[in-house]
Amino acid sequence: MRGRGQNGRLKRFVVVLIFLLGILVANGFLYYRVFKSWVSYQTEVALRKYNDIGMIVLRATLDSRAERLRIMASFCGGEQGESREKWAKAICSCTGAGARIGAADMDGALWYGNSENRDISEFEYYKRIMAGEKVAYEIRPSGFSGDGSLVIAVPRYGADGSVIGVLCEEYNCVELGNSLNSIDRIDSGATLVINEKGDVVFSYAGMNAFSDFYEMMEGMDHRGKDAVELLKASIRNKEKGFLEYVSGKRRRLLYHQPAGVENWCIISLVDAQAYQTEKGAMRRDLVFISTITILCFIGVAVLAGMIMYQIRQETEKGKRDFLTDVYDRKTARYMLERHLEKGGSGCCFFLDIDNFKNINDTKGHVAGDRALQNCAALLKREVRHDDVVSRYGGDEFCIWLWELRDEFIVRGIAERLVQTFRDEAEYTISMGVSFFAKGDAYEDVIKRADRALYFAKENGRNQFAFLPEHEQDAQGCGTV
Ligand code: GH3
Ligand code: MG
Repeated sequence: MRGRGQNGRLKRFVVVLIFLLGILVANGFLYYRVFKSWVSYQTEVALRKYNDIGMIVLRATLDSRAERLRIMASFCGGEQGESREKWAKAICSCTGAGARIGAADMDGALWYGNSENRDISEFEYYKRIMAGEKVAYEIRPSGFSGDGSLVIAVPRYGADGSVIGVLCEEYNCVELGNSLNSIDRIDSGATLVINEKGDVVFSYAGMNAFSDFYEMMEGMDHRGKDAVELLKASIRNKEKGFLEYVSGKRRRLLYHQPAGVENWCIISLVDAQAYQTEKGAMRRDLVFISTITILCFIGVAVLAGMIMYQIRQETEKGKRDFLTDVYDRKTARYMLERHLEKGGSGCCFFLDIDNFKNINDTKGHVAGDRALQNCAALLKREVRHDDVVSRYGGDEFCIWLWELRDEFIVRGIAERLVQTFRDEAEYTISMGVSFFAKGDAYEDVIKRADRALYFAKENGRNQFAFLPEHEQDAQGCGTV
């Protein structure tokens, strides 16, 4: 029964261990999630900042180029012939790499200072300038260099202040995009500007493979099926927002907001490498820490188990008879009293080896000891695991059979035991049987069983006996 108490402690210990392990796992999971969202948030903050800077650069670039064009336009008079040839050539030579300047008159013929004239009278930017706008921007998807190009157009004024034509400069979109993408980035990524149809205004080299921005986005892996459609709608509605997608197994993040110029949208993309790296490192750390902690837990559990096992063994040893390894008298008494306290009942076999002295005398004490060990082993073998076999002293043993009150069954067991010794041992046993129930005292139960044993011996040994009926009355309980 003390063993049962230890089992209970062991169970509680295991429960606490599992509980702690559960807390550890939950903690790790929570920590990972918080950290993940923190890294994600940091990435978003950085990306938004990057995009804001991009917008400032975009406006400054456009404003400065339009202003430069306006200054040039002030030198473009309305003269024809040699004079026009002169200023046109001078202005056209001001163009840098990836751009070209052209001037158009009222008839819409754009002239680049060489023989390459073209009619722009139907182009939107020409019409807008001729209608009085101070500056107009327009994307030409296949511009002069084969890539998309952006046209910036300003009016040319005559001497009377009226619009007499257009001066426009056409930029290669990728070249233009370099100005945006030369600024510091949070990680490998890019900023680009698109119009409402998805045509790229400020581009970057990676965009060359696609006809427009949305075509590129459709080639990526998205969580939702209609992610690109939602993005288009969001851009169309002039909203700001993030979009997460995967390109070649790498997580990328996109942020867009209206560019504040025309109906354009400025978009920044990052390969969230920092995010990936931090997340990966975090996961590695967590796995490492968790493994170490779990190993420690297992170590502690194994150690505690070993210590408890050792204590149990020691305690168990302390309860056993040193020679026969069955319970000693004191422990058996303790067990019976606990059983009676709980209202339990049962029966007691009090047995003694017949003529044991002869074994000692004829074969020696070592053989006597061996006979005692053999007796204990046979008794243990013949009763249930839960029944308690104990050595009372000398060649006397006591077996406590819990909750056994049926005389018929008890007789069967007693007979089987006596027969076992007849068959398998070099000696026989005599046995007294008494019953016990709640309210009995240990001494009384033993006294009754001992008295029954006396009758078994008196009747010629090698048998078992109950108390005779007249003694049962005299000694109170002890009957079935
Ligand atoms: P009975 O049939 O009336 O029981 O006769 P018996 O010879 O068995 O007599 P009894 O039970 O009184 O004798 C018990 C003997 O057991 C006395 C003692 O010398 C011996 N004995 C007691 N403890 C040990 C022990 O640990 N080892 C050995 N070898 N003998 C023991
Ligand atoms: Mg004896």
